[in-house]
Amino acid sequence: MRSWSLLPEVILLLSFSSQAGAMAFFGDPPDANHPWAVHDSNRPQPPTVQPGAFAGDAPSDAIILFDGTEASLENWYHIKDAEQRQADWTVKDGALHSVRGAGSLASRVEFGDCQLHVEWMAPSEIKGTGQGRGNSGIFLMGMVEVQVLDNFQNPTYADGTVGAIYGLMPPAANSLREPGEWQRTDIIFRRPIVRDGVVLDEGSMTVLINGVVVQDNASLAGGGGWKARKPLDRVFPEQGSLHLQDHGDPVRFRNIWYRPLRPRALEGGVEGRLSAEATQAIRAVTASDLIDQAAQLEGMEQTFKLLESLVYQESDAVRRSVDTSLKTYLIPLSEMSSQALESHKNTVRKLDRALAYLAKHGRLPADYFALAIVQQLCEQQAWKN
Ligand code: MG
Repeated sequence: MRSWSLLPEVILLLSFSSQAGAMAFFGDPPDANHPWAVHDSNRPQPPTVQPGAFAGDAPSDAIILFDGTEASLENWYHIKDAEQRQADWTVKDGALHSVRGAGSLASRVEFGDCQLHVEWMAPSEIKGTGQGRGNSGIFLMGMVEVQVLDNFQNPTYADGTVGAIYGLMPPAANSLREPGEWQRTDIIFRRPIVRDGVVLDEGSMTVLINGVVVQDNASLAGGGGWKARKPLDRVFPEQGSLHLQDHGDPVRFRNIWYRPLRPRALEGGVEGRLSAEATQAIRAVTASDLIDQAAQLEGMEQTFKLLESLVYQESDAVRRSVDTSLKTYLIPLSEMSSQALESHKNTVRKLDRALAYLAKHGRLPADYFALAIVQQLCEQQAWKN
């Protein structure tokens, strides 16, 4: 909604600019840890994703792990060798069934940080109590379990309840439907990042069961084990298989898909707060792109593009080029009649905004020669920005 509240200003800027960047010289500029200005038109656009028709349906960029077909069983393998297991997971009536003695099933594809969607059903015929009723599990990277369990009117220890990060964090609520109904588990997973024994990020999980938030950015530090805590500095690889647990109870699954999440800042992602080095590197690339674009332009359009590059990075060569082109453009204007100047109104006003912005944010000196000329022209012609 925020962008709509900016609309009048966007329109104003668009009226000033032709090809010189609708949102240039606008929001607070890049700084030591932010490579982009606020509302920066050079900031990469988010990719377009077509959402599913209904809640739980895979969006267009999802990687499908199980779609109900026999063929999608090819996306999985049994962790136990054939000699070690008494049964195999099977596909029946569009669902993937865990079978006692089959052991866990693992995805062939390995992935790390993700949005994961899994639907599952415990049998309507109730057998067993506590951990022994409809028990399975969703193991992210095979390392940390989100509990799958028929806890409908069937309590167990809190940190082993459905939606728990097993052995670590109970769910904030029990939002199960009755056994025999499909349950939806949605997970947003960020793996822990440990380098040289230093925990840079404890990792986190957000979990929804049937649309109800049961884990909210919960830390993964020390979690994931039966009876035992895991070391805080346990190293997770960058990617791993998704595991579905065979706990001896018949549980069926359907509609399993994931989407990788964008990298975090400390993984070299371009979002969030970055290190000074990473920030400087992105600013340098942006400035260099703008200088390349300027080379394809002429006259004042070229000058505006070069001025824009100064928002991201200082450059003596760019400054010299800009100084020369501004002198060439502005000096003849001082000889013109007021009437003749009117045809330069839009360019001069746009220049006034750009130079004032650059001077305000220390990219040009406050007493920059061209700013004084432009301000005088605007005043003389009663052109208001
Ligand atoms: Mg389990």
